[in-house]
Amino acid sequence: MMIAYLDQQLRLGPGAEADPHPAGGELDPELEAASEDFGGVARALPAVVLRPGSADDVAGAIRLASRSDRLTVAARGNGHSVAGQALAPGGIVLDMRAMARIELVFSDGGQPCADVGAGVLWGELLEWGVREHGMAPRSWTDYLGLTVGGTLSNAGISGQAFRKGPQIANVAELEVVTGEAERVVCSPSHRSDLFFAALGGLGQFGIITRARIPLYPAPRLVRWIRVVYSRIEEYVADAESLVACGEFDYVEGFAFLNRGDDPASGWDSVPIGPGSVFEQDLIPQGSGPLLYCLELALNHELNDDVDKRMEELLRPLKYIKGLEFSLEVSYVEFLSRVNLAESEARANGSWDAPHPWLNILISASNIVDFDHEVLQPMLKDGIGGPMLIYPLLRSRWDPRMSVALPDSEVFYLVALLRFTRPYPVGPPVEDLISQNREILNRCRSNGYDFKLYLPHYKTQPEWAHHFGKNWARFVNLKARFDSRAILAPGQLIFSRAHPPTS
Ligand SMILES: Cc1cc2nc3c(=O)[nH]c(=O)nc-3n(C[C@H](O)[C@H](O)[C@H](O)COP(=O)(O)OP(=O)(O)OC[C@H]3O[C@@H](n4cnc5c(N)ncnc54)[C@H](O)[C@@H]3O)c2cc1C
Repeated sequence: MMIAYLDQQLRLGPGAEADPHPAGGELDPELEAASEDFGGVARALPAVVLRPGSADDVAGAIRLASRSDRLTVAARGNGHSVAGQALAPGGIVLDMRAMARIELVFSDGGQPCADVGAGVLWGELLEWGVREHGMAPRSWTDYLGLTVGGTLSNAGISGQAFRKGPQIANVAELEVVTGEAERVVCSPSHRSDLFFAALGGLGQFGIITRARIPLYPAPRLVRWIRVVYSRIEEYVADAESLVACGEFDYVEGFAFLNRGDDPASGWDSVPIGPGSVFEQDLIPQGSGPLLYCLELALNHELNDDVDKRMEELLRPLKYIKGLEFSLEVSYVEFLSRVNLAESEARANGSWDAPHPWLNILISASNIVDFDHEVLQPMLKDGIGGPMLIYPLLRSRWDPRMSVALPDSEVFYLVALLRFTRPYPVGPPVEDLISQNREILNRCRSNGYDFKLYLPHYKTQPEWAHHFGKNWARFVNLKARFDSRAILAPGQLIFSRAHPPTS
């Protein structure tokens, strides 16, 4: 019934125009919302937005698209992409938020898992798991207003990933509807080719409709810690020794401005906890324009020896003594820590402004040079938001997954999460985009071993370069699972006019 309506709405045939304001059925009339994303840079109106109730609805939409030689289908999670990745110009957008069921299940071996619709937000999963079952997944993103299907199509990285792997390494089973409209339940042991292709697969091989995510007892409390460094060399040495020893449950960090006039990325962005003050006199004379904050966490239960553990683990670190901050919070509070920043950004208008973000995965062997050659000279005035820099371990990523990584075992996520006011209060977005381009040019000309995270390229040769030696595999998988290039057109990897040829 819904597909018949969709069919009628799209009026397949030469010269047919889709009605941009469909009414009735289960179709979503809000095409406008589906024509943009968090990035606010790309824009494309779809022909129709559908709220699928099941994998069969998803398959029906794909079958319908396959009857034309131009229609595409994009799954839209929560639209938090920054370069139009979830858009479908003139095509069908599937609003995956409609698939938001969560159920507790047990694997054959007795492992509790959350069986979740792909449109569930990680924040919803956290609330459900902890409140109803005292359990939670173990790998997160910093911000939880992202869908399960959306982050599993990329990677899902936060401070737990060095130890537990990214979110894509914490999945027991997927239900995927391929670009051939086939519904497949896959796992590491069954149809593993599609399972690993879909993880980090940028939505290219199928639409994830359901994921099974292992759950573990949720820690009761978290000791949240921040310590400050003036030199990148000491910062990265400590960060890398901590991810190697694996004693902390969470290791992240960020660069911030060595000055007090920017509450979002200056000294004041560092202290945590009521009444804690950043003693700027403690910063060594001659420090550069950027300082570095290592952010750590220890999960623990009531009445255990967390103070002693924290003291022992911090003792060998070379941070500026006196510039350490800590706070005791619940597990849910810790994982929801970005909510406050979101409220502030919504209040000051920077949430709705364009966000030309740049996320780079760069080898540990290049990170100090990157700081000296790129960060310090180019970003000494900040970006109005966080500049995350923290290490990850390649061995926690299964090489069968689609995501492209630098070659070295230790690599850093450098996330330039720009939050500026809309122009003319803030800078023109074109200036920020050209600064991103310049940063990447310097990375290339300096010969760094790096890959973009949440990549966005406009041409196939650029994508081929991005995937490197795995490009041929990527194209072969596309030819098998989405031979007509119907899915995720906004990634600009393949198009209906230029489908994959294996
Ligand atoms: C404020 C903010 C904070 C963030 N923090 C982090 C972070 O800490 N760590 C991190 O790793 N990332 C982070 N991200 C990036 C985030 O992972 C991406 O935006 C990701 O795309 C998820 O967003 P989404 O669920 O809205 O997906 P969308 O942006 O809607 O979709 C992303 C891509 O995946 C495809 N897709 C979506 N759902 C499915 C599905 N079910 N099946 C197949 N393909 C699908 C889309 O077609 C699109 O190509 C953050 C983004 C924002 C805006």
